[in-house]
Amino acid sequence: MANRKSCCGVSLLEAMLAVLFIVMTTVCVVLITLMVSWKTHTVSVPSGLTPPPQNHSYLIGVGRADCTGPPAEVPLMGYANPQQSAAGIHTRLYSRAFIIDDGRRRVVFVTAEVGMISQRLRLEVLSALQVKFGDVYRQENVVLSGTHTHSGPGGYFQFTLFMISSKGYIRSSIQPLVNGIVKSIDIAHRNMKPGRIYRNRGELDDSTLNRSPHSYMNNPEDERHRYKSNTDKQVMVLKFTDLDGDGIGVLSWFSVHAVSMNYTNRMVSSDNMGYASYLLEQDKNPGDLPGQGGFVAGFSSSNLGDVSPNIRGPHCVNTGLSCDYLNSSCPVGGTKMCQAFGPGNDMFDSTRIIGHNIYRKAKELYASAVEEVTGFLHFAHEWVNMTDVTVQINSSHTVSTCKPALGHSFAAGTTDGGGDLNFTQGAVEGDPFWDGIRDALLGEPSNKTQECHHPKPILFNTGEMNWPLPWHPQIVDVQIITIGSVAVVAVPGEMTTMAGRRLRDAVQQELQSEGTFEDTEVVIAGLSNIYTHYITTYEEYQVQRYEGASTLYGPHTLSAYVHKFRGLARAIAQDKVSELPVGPQPPLFTKNLFNLLPQAPADKTPVNSSFGDVLQQVDPVYRQGDVVSITFVAGNPRHSGDIRDKTFVTVEIYDNRTDSWEVVHTDASWETRFHWLKGSNGRSNTTVEWFIPPSAPGGCYRIKHFGHYKQRTGLRPVIKPYEGTSAVFRVSTSFYYQ
Ligand code: ZN
Repeated sequence: MANRKSCCGVSLLEAMLAVLFIVMTTVCVVLITLMVSWKTHTVSVPSGLTPPPQNHSYLIGVGRADCTGPPAEVPLMGYANPQQSAAGIHTRLYSRAFIIDDGRRRVVFVTAEVGMISQRLRLEVLSALQVKFGDVYRQENVVLSGTHTHSGPGGYFQFTLFMISSKGYIRSSIQPLVNGIVKSIDIAHRNMKPGRIYRNRGELDDSTLNRSPHSYMNNPEDERHRYKSNTDKQVMVLKFTDLDGDGIGVLSWFSVHAVSMNYTNRMVSSDNMGYASYLLEQDKNPGDLPGQGGFVAGFSSSNLGDVSPNIRGPHCVNTGLSCDYLNSSCPVGGTKMCQAFGPGNDMFDSTRIIGHNIYRKAKELYASAVEEVTGFLHFAHEWVNMTDVTVQINSSHTVSTCKPALGHSFAAGTTDGGGDLNFTQGAVEGDPFWDGIRDALLGEPSNKTQECHHPKPILFNTGEMNWPLPWHPQIVDVQIITIGSVAVVAVPGEMTTMAGRRLRDAVQQELQSEGTFEDTEVVIAGLSNIYTHYITTYEEYQVQRYEGASTLYGPHTLSAYVHKFRGLARAIAQDKVSELPVGPQPPLFTKNLFNLLPQAPADKTPVNSSFGDVLQQVDPVYRQGDVVSITFVAGNPRHSGDIRDKTFVTVEIYDNRTDSWEVVHTDASWETRFHWLKGSNGRSNTTVEWFIPPSAPGGCYRIKHFGHYKQRTGLRPVIKPYEGTSAVFRVSTSFYYQ
């Protein structure tokens, strides 16, 4: 049974399966199988501090590095769909780092093309930074944020629920992420030079849709009336230049789920946000191949929790009718038939349109940015035990957070990728059938946890599950960095639109409370530092759609975050960051990490053929707009090891003048698609497609494929490289084939 996807997490199905697999192999398999599934801020300087010099500039460094992991067999992290494992490359994944230094302090912001930053990933990055740079880069001054692409390899988590959804802790998957992120910081570190920062903001329409309007409408009316829309449409841009005014980079934030590529995609892809980076970098680095060139354009996630790019909205795919508004299900087929699409004809087209919209807006804001950012840098960080935060919300009322738990509607997924079972969004009552199975397998949640999460009916009592390792984190990073009067709030999860607005307002109020900061621009950097699913408002939580059911620490999760981030902002405003508690250190598990991804077998070829042989040849002539397709005998891409800064594919044009072949595209190019097709008994093929762009010059071309295969000779496996080359073909610019 296809047990699909719940957006951004782990399907109930999978987790239950794994429990079955690991713990209770004797329990009724059938039953379980069913289940599974600035105005610049002019600083009035606090006493004792040197004021910034006139014409103050910063030291600025930007860096980009490939962080693409194994593009085969590793589950893609996002939809939690067990069928959706990697099988090729659509576009490569990059980490982009921005380092700013004011002469006193230094801050680093990284936006990486991953589903989310996990605690494990962050801890491994921080430890690698310690080895390389000593105490220069550490938890207080480094923010790591994920773009939330749902098409990047998983396997980089240490908590059980996430390990289950990505076949465990996979060394070959986390290593390229750690190395890529550290390399991007290293590149930025090495090219730091004096420069200036400008800020700008604008609104982008026609690119987002609230996917839980029913939850949003439960927020107080007077609060909703303060805003034009039920999603945040602002694009915030920081423009970085050298002292001559030449651009060196741009960092931008926008709230949208990177889920234009849907759960049917099997290729590693940076999705819509990645495509925006791609386009702007191609613009600013003319003549360079994708992923190369000095200009770095980072597009970071923000409060995107309830924000979909699939702007044609949800419909019942079987009948074409509207889905039920309250619970996003269809009369026939239930939740899984209710899916959102658009604006393009297919997911590639939708990715292109949304990515292009974001790029176009950011480019326009970059070009017109004149408001210079000056002033000191600050950073504040604390580790917080999120299961135990108490907040006084008025003179007589105190509320607390809970141990982590996921509700029934978590298993329903979203209209960007719904679950397969009979769960629907908006469930505030349990279901005796599933609750019975839950109790038998995982144990009944304690009364205390049930009451604490009310009205969430608990499906996964993860806070009380600790085998073989805790299922969810308790200790979470809260962090703010400020660059002049721009404050970046690193949120360890996915805040909904209104949750993000409340947090931004609170942080702004605290920062400006002492008169130190003026006209502060607060941005939320989503999916930062550690993943804790969703954060809704208290009112949205009452509705228990997917986002509310996935709000991990109970109905007061947002209040707790607002309280904690207020504390950080106040400490910055009062220049008392050194008085903040460090908080409890998060765990770095060394035992009981598991890996469920079997080793890839030795590769084999069909009789009388070799690796790299062409199975299906190109045509002799094509025109712009055509698609060239070629299939090679291939090895498993996992045998290529660390694939960063390499390529499985080149498209090459023959240069008459130099009598040589010049590479015009790689597997990082939007125009190429590299598919890996796994056969039986160690056999596999790759098909390379080239979508010839209208700008392609006429001439002679060829396509090459590079890979590695594993052979068993004697006892030891040997890895060997191979390559394959197409016949030469022509791209004709004339209307008629010649
Ligand atoms: Zn998400």
